[in-house]
Amino acid sequence: MSLSSVRKAFPALQQQINGQPLIYLDNAATTQKPEQVIRAVEDFYRQDNANVHRGAHQLSERATTAFENARAEVKGFINAASEKEIIWTRGTTEGINLIAQSFARPRLQPGDEIILTELEHHANIVPWQIVAEQTGALIKVIPIKENGDLNLEKYTELLSERTRIVSLTHISNTLGTINPVAGIIRQAKKFGATVVIDGAQAVSHLEVDVQRLGCDFYLFSGHKLFAPTGIGVLYGRQDLLEAMPPWQAGGEMIRKVSFTGTSYNELPFKFEAGTPNISGAIGLAEAIRFLSRLDRKKLAAHERRLMQRAIELCSDIPGFTRIGSPTACASILSFQLNSHHQQDVGLMLDQQGIAVRTGHHCAMPLMEKLKLPGTVRASFCFYNTLEEVERFAQALQLIATGGS
Ligand code: PLP
Repeated sequence: MSLSSVRKAFPALQQQINGQPLIYLDNAATTQKPEQVIRAVEDFYRQDNANVHRGAHQLSERATTAFENARAEVKGFINAASEKEIIWTRGTTEGINLIAQSFARPRLQPGDEIILTELEHHANIVPWQIVAEQTGALIKVIPIKENGDLNLEKYTELLSERTRIVSLTHISNTLGTINPVAGIIRQAKKFGATVVIDGAQAVSHLEVDVQRLGCDFYLFSGHKLFAPTGIGVLYGRQDLLEAMPPWQAGGEMIRKVSFTGTSYNELPFKFEAGTPNISGAIGLAEAIRFLSRLDRKKLAAHERRLMQRAIELCSDIPGFTRIGSPTACASILSFQLNSHHQQDVGLMLDQQGIAVRTGHHCAMPLMEKLKLPGTVRASFCFYNTLEEVERFAQALQLIATGGS
């Protein structure tokens, strides 16, 4: 499939905003959905809608088959060892909260240490702060260097016999930093620490193999991977998941309930209380099928070209300051235009039909470190074009020179 036919598969991209063709550069917030995902969700509700795992009828059987096939699709996508290691969640945030409460809380002792980084999204900070407060554990933070890379020397210094958990993002949603997680995991393992990787930004850009990485947990959200909102994945090593108590209770996670004692279902259902997001899982599997028919290396190369071109063109704009320039960087460009508030830049770009994100990007500690109230963030996806990048840079130039 050519890049232009890939783009045509996304109906939302074919619209006008404020009289201009939409240029969607807010892909780090959420991605658009291809026709085939939209159709899979629609077909489910038109033909197969039923609850899963419990009905004695054909619709329920069809829904259950599609739902469990979706789990198998995810297993293959990240190369998990078993479908039991794939837990459906609402998204990355829910997955991290589950790990913090079900895995970490019963294990952490006062003085134990959890290592995070300055690049984290609030979703990978606050659940750990809560569990630290509950247990007396301490949070240590790997600082970043000026360019937005992690300071790995400091990481080495922070690691110790007290380190129980290392939890970090695979790709920074704000600066685009691609963290060298394989090495970080290897080092953590020397101290027997458990490693949690927030893959929310990574799965759409990189090919992820959880076994090769050697992480203990890996999390992502469907909506950042061309799938619906409200569905996400928690990958966990089976032995760890087996040893963890359920987090939420009711419905699917039950084997037998009695007032004299209740027993829990086996993996992965033990962590899936209540009726799950069936259509979301089906949509996510379809998004993975869509991606797996494409040449992902070619898509990644195109994203790199978009990013390079954006940096080249924007660097010539008066007052443009790129925030961070990590050594390994995904197609996420954070910047400021001197003398323009970031929110105004976002609004003026929107008038031109260009969608970006402005603000702190749910990374307030990072903003504090950078001494910035926020940034403008343009995040590119393989369905964006070089022409769009050029129009984006022209629009910024106009704003910078007071022409908008
Ligand atoms: N982690 C990172 C790096 C993110 O970029 C996001 C979303 O922006 C999240 C976690 C939270 O994802 P969700 O809101 O889908 O749970």
